[in-house]
Amino acid sequence: MKTIQEILEEKKASILELEKFLYANPEIEMEEYKAKEKFIELLEKEGFEVEKDIEGLPTAFVAHKSNGEGPSIGICAEYDALPGLGHACGHNLIGAMSYGAAAVLAEWLMQSGHKGSVYLLGTPAEETGRGKPGMLKAGCFKNVDVAMMAHPMKSTTLMSKLVNLEGYDITFHGRAMHAAEAPWNGVNALDAAAIFYNAVAMLRQQLRDGSRVHMIVTDGGDAVNIIPERAALRVEIRHSDFKYFRELVNKVLAVAEQAAKAAGCTVDIEMFEPPIYCMKNNKPMIELFKRHMLDAGITEYVEEAATGGGCTDMGNVSQEVPSIHPWMKMARPTSDGHTLEFLEDADSPYAIEQMYKVVGCLAETGADIIAEPKLLDGTKAAFAAED
Ligand SMILES: [Zn+2]
Repeated sequence: MKTIQEILEEKKASILELEKFLYANPEIEMEEYKAKEKFIELLEKEGFEVEKDIEGLPTAFVAHKSNGEGPSIGICAEYDALPGLGHACGHNLIGAMSYGAAAVLAEWLMQSGHKGSVYLLGTPAEETGRGKPGMLKAGCFKNVDVAMMAHPMKSTTLMSKLVNLEGYDITFHGRAMHAAEAPWNGVNALDAAAIFYNAVAMLRQQLRDGSRVHMIVTDGGDAVNIIPERAALRVEIRHSDFKYFRELVNKVLAVAEQAAKAAGCTVDIEMFEPPIYCMKNNKPMIELFKRHMLDAGITEYVEEAATGGGCTDMGNVSQEVPSIHPWMKMARPTSDGHTLEFLEDADSPYAIEQMYKVVGCLAETGADIIAEPKLLDGTKAAFAAED
């Protein structure tokens, strides 16, 4: 029976082929048609079954290979580029690494005789955070026990802490009336908006450190001699602790309901952008990954760090399925994502050398779980214990 490393050697050519193809054909979010086609071509050659129609996401896909009932390993591929900048976030490397890990792991699974499944989730539109939330909604993750991927970066961080974010449009409805003739017959929606704005401003004093609630007024009425029948605000809410974040969102939305009541109005509350959730890093999986990373000679790393304002929709996945999303050093130490320097680094010989190592680490981590299903229990227990 071949080892993961031996199978990886055999698949290096197709992994590199995909990396080069994605890099040379950058497509922005929701337009990744060429990328999707290339993935499917390679995956079908590897004997994967591919589901090509994902509701609402024409450039998404789900590929899988199974060997009976057993642990099911999900690997997320990203492949969207940046408008005007090409692959300056290195999603060409992510796509190739995730494809490689899935192909290597699946072949190992079939040869080893172990039971289980390998899923490669083609998750488009990471840059706008639309892909993975849409795929979660479409049920694409329902068959996977764990999910993983790795992201190129200028240094290695196993567990990143990212911020949670939700944004809402709050629209108050009242009744228009002549503001001078009979204002007493009107219901002023702008009053509700003013109460909401001020009540949230007061609420801030009672919030935990690191909370952010910021807003703008997007509609305050049409004419000064008409009692506004409609007034609207746009608000964004952020905190890094997921449990507290949920509390905070509920508080702010309750204030909106009460502000409407106080002014005799009704209120509509609608999310105006996809929510982004922080990474809930699965420690048992990170431990497995770390062991293989050290074996691969990647010894310079930080265990856990808060990254600046950055966030990723892999966070949303991690709130529903035990997940990891290590940042792996694949670029120069000065190279920040979304720059021309990073674009250059994303196809460098160094990045490609690291790419193969990361493919090995991801595949080995999946193989550990498939070979020892008890590890899955530990993974799930850690997931349940951590909020
Ligand atoms: Zn990225």
